[in-house]
Formats: sequence, structure tokens, C-alpha cells
Amino acid sequence: MESTLPSHTDVLIVGAGPAGLATAVTLLTAGVKSVVVLDALEQGQNISRAVVIHAQTMEELDTIACAAPMVERGIKASSLLVRTGNTPLLRMNFTLLKNMTRFPYATLISQTDTESALEDRLNALGGRILRPVSVTVIAPSSDPGATGITATLADGRTITASYVVGADGARSFVRKAAGIAFRDPKTNEDPYAPDADTTSGWPLIIADVILSPSAAKYVSESDLSTLLGPRGFLLLVPLPPLKDDPAQRRVWRMSCPPEPDNVNPPRLAYLQTILDAALGKRKEKVTVEEVLWSSRFRARSAVADSFAAKMGSGTIVLAGDAAHVHSPAGGQGMNLGIRDSIALARALADILGFPTSAPAASASSAVSTKSSTKAPKIADGVDARLRAYSDQRRAQAIAVIKVTKLMTWATGLKSRPARRVRNAVGWVLGRPKKIEKRMAFRLSGLPAGVQVASDAGKSTNASISGTARGEKTHQPKETSASLQNGAAAAQNGTGEAEKVTDTGVQA
Ligand SMILES: Cc1cc2nc3c(=O)[nH]c(=O)nc-3n(C[C@H](O)[C@H](O)[C@H](O)COP(=O)(O)OP(=O)(O)OC[C@H]3O[C@@H](n4cnc5c(N)ncnc54)[C@H](O)[C@@H]3O)c2cc1C
Repeated sequence: MESTLPSHTDVLIVGAGPAGLATAVTLLTAGVKSVVVLDALEQGQNISRAVVIHAQTMEELDTIACAAPMVERGIKASSLLVRTGNTPLLRMNFTLLKNMTRFPYATLISQTDTESALEDRLNALGGRILRPVSVTVIAPSSDPGATGITATLADGRTITASYVVGADGARSFVRKAAGIAFRDPKTNEDPYAPDADTTSGWPLIIADVILSPSAAKYVSESDLSTLLGPRGFLLLVPLPPLKDDPAQRRVWRMSCPPEPDNVNPPRLAYLQTILDAALGKRKEKVTVEEVLWSSRFRARSAVADSFAAKMGSGTIVLAGDAAHVHSPAGGQGMNLGIRDSIALARALADILGFPTSAPAASASSAVSTKSSTKAPKIADGVDARLRAYSDQRRAQAIAVIKVTKLMTWATGLKSRPARRVRNAVGWVLGRPKKIEKRMAFRLSGLPAGVQVASDAGKSTNASISGTARGEKTHQPKETSASLQNGAAAAQNGTGEAEKVTDTGVQA
């Protein structure tokens, strides 16, 4: 992998967030060396952002030897618990997945730590991120003799590439340069268009805080807790202490809908009000002692019309937020992006003559999106493996958008009668263990029918093949099915999954 800018590369990765990093690490692991990864920022961001890694993502990360440091650094959450006051409504119990994965928990870890684990692995494989390097033009190569796509950088230098990976986030420059539309599957609106309605989506507060030690008495330190109340919801997620905190105090992520008059960024006093309202009267007060970081943002939903497109004789492919965005409900965003990236890199490695034995997107997979949004036709000339990647991952993204919209809507209900009905339904649904397991399964991203043998919980740092556990017992390949079923089941209120296969949803 290049540490200075060459004139040509097989794969140019624009963006070194989790998606770009996971793509680069997977390519290097597979043996592809002609890879350049660059990022506009001088250094990686140091705010926590996405804080949950689900089981299937960890399985995939393990195939590129990145799971172990994340498991070691993170907190193993046994469930996502939804409660009103002291009454537990629903528990999505990840421990019940122990026969399906070696990671039967959600790993709670800040995105900064996730990115640094990926970057450490990249460095160990001989890779480097070129920073600060911003791509300002992407166009088909016009120089005689040059093939592929030419990227022009802010300082005027150029590089040609056969494949350009747009891992450059929600407002992706690469996606725009390729002319790929980005829109909400339901409304068809692009939430990032210059004339977009700035009030669309869901406003959310997000803050990392230090709480008084009394918090541990009322909020589990080994679960993701969602407290429902008249103000909507408050999500409380325990996170590992900051690496440089001498006192090694527990960090808590707070997230909730804001009140209209709330200032931005939300201050300590406001967060205290939210916490008091969610916890109700307690013997011992829980105080917000320090706000490490806080922000208000709007969760929007959109998916790219396709995740692959020809540009001249080269190909543009998208992964992560460049390809899809959605509400953070259920912590799906970064997870989906990392899994996109590993699948994409496997497909690219295969095309470039470095086949991995892990199942790449298969050209023959018939993915049923069960969605009203039909995948637009990908331009002719895109390799069948990349077309399959696009079809499969796009269907997955649409399914996640549906589920996260539903979760955001349900947790955000404010009127008393609507909350009563929701709570009653949640209480009834939440009783049987079978349903606890099914809901956990849907969040985990695990494909249907997986089973692992006796090595549950052990990270093996398996090779790229992903076969350490045996392909018969766990297929790291993600089908689009599980979350689609989740959406269907959640919408019809039964919690029942349809039968799924590796190639799509069967009625
Ligand atoms: C405040 C905040 C809170 C969040 N909370 C959650 C959460 O709780 N749960 C959750 O699942 N997700 C959350 N997210 C979303 C999560 O952070 C994203 O899903 C994730 O970062 C996407 O990763 P990515 O690699 O696709 O893109 P990004 O992380 O956005 O990385 C894109 C990279 O591309 C670089 N880049 C952009 N343009 C160019 C260019 N022209 N040239 C070179 N480089 C370029 C950028 O500098 C950036 O480093 C949050 C995001 C934010 C901002």
C-alpha cells in the first residue's frame, strides 16, 4: 500500500472513517497492495459518535483481525432494555444468541476507539492514510494512455484509479461526482440537496457525560437502556472510561429528542433536567457531573440509487454513509457501513485476482427487497460482483431504514394515549423469551440459520476466509433478509420472522 501519492492505483479510497478503513484493511488482508486511502482531515475525529458494535459486525471484523482489540476495549452489553420508570417493557437479549455467534453481546465502544483499532491494523499491514488530502474533482481519465478515473486533489496533484471507493460520508463528494442520486426511499427527497427541507428527519440530542456514581444503582452498567417517558425517550449507554482520564470514570452516552427551546450544544443543566424526568424520583439523586461533549443533530434517511457506477473506463463504488444514512435507533449505521466495506473489499479483491474464500457478494444471489423502492438499473459495464454487492447492500440499507424509522417513531411518541397503547403492546410482546431472542437477533445483523459450536465468546483473529468457525456453522456473509423480516415483523406487530435463506426472503 502506498504511503506517498502514486500516479496510479488499482483502488483509491476516499475517506478514512470506519467504512474507508475497513475497506482498506480487508483489501490488504486479501493481498491487494495497490491501494491508496486518503482523508481530508488532518487527523481522525475524537468524538464518540457511533457507540455500538453488533454481533455480525464483530464476526466480520474478526475475519480481518480487528475484533479482539475492540472486544478488549469495549463493554459487553447483554441486552437492549426498554423500560418506563421501573417497569421493564422489552428486553432484546443478546446473550440468547450464544449458539449463533462467538460475540453474543453488543460491544459498547466509542467510534474513536473503533477507528483507532482499524487504523492500527492498517498500519500493521503496512498501510498508511494520506492526510490532509481532499479530493476536489473526480472525472474519467482524459490523458492519452491513462485508464480509469482521475481524482484531482485540493493542491492540484492527480491520481488515476481503476476503482474509486466513495467512503466519504453522508454528503459524499464521490457520490455526487458519479451522478448517483441519494434519497429517502419513502419520500424520494434528498435530505442533503441544497433546497432540502431543513426540518426533515428527527432532531436528537447526543451527549457524552460523567454521571455521579449513584447512576449505577438505577441504570444498568451492562445494558443499553432506553427509558420511555412523557418527553419521548432517553437512551443511556455505558461506555469505557476515556483512555487519558486518570480517575478512569465511566462515560455515559445520553441521547434523546430535544425540547424546541433547547440551546445548542445542550448544556449540563438541560441534560440534568432530561435525566431527572427520565429517572423520576429516586432515593439518591443521579447528577450529571460533567459534559464531555454534546451536540444536536438531525437523523435523516436516504439511500443511494446504486452503490456502483461506471465512470469512463473506471468504476465508482460507495460504502458506509456515502451509500446510506438513517436514524441511529438500534445503533445500525456504522455497523452497516463496516459490513458494506468488508463485502465490497472482498468483491474488489476477487476482481483484482486475489480471491478470498469468504463469501463475497454473489452475482447470482436473488435479493428480494420487499420494498416499494425498486433498485434503479446500474449502468452497463459494472462487474457482476459489484452489481451483486450493490443490489444486496442496497436492499439491506432500505430494510434498516424501515426498521430504524419505526423504532424512532415508536420511542418518540409523546401523547399519553399513544404511549399507553405502545407500552401495552411492548409489555405483551416483551414477555416470551423467544421474542426477546428474535428482537436481539434482528439487531445483531446475524444471518438466518447460523450456529456456532463450543467456542462462543472467543475471538480468534481468524484469517480473511472467515472460516475459523467452519462455514457450515456460521456464514459471515450477510443476507438482506434478517432485518427485512424484522421490519415486516415489527410492522405487523407479531415479532414473527419469515423464513429466510442465504439468497433472500422466502415467504
Ligand atoms: C454527532 C454524530 C453522532 C453519531 N452517533 C451515532 C450513533 O450513536 N450510532 C450510529 O450508528 N451512528 C452514529 N453516527 C453516525 C456514524 O458516525 C456514521 O455512520 C459513521 O461515521 C459513518 O462512517 P463512514 O466511514 O461511512 O463515514 P465518515 O465517518 O463520515 O467518514 C468519512 C470521511 O471522509 C472524509 N472525506 C469527506 N470528503 C472528502 C473528500 N472530498 N476528500 C477526502 N476525504 C473526504 C471525511 O474527512 C471523513 O473522515 C453519528 C454521527 C455523528 C456526526
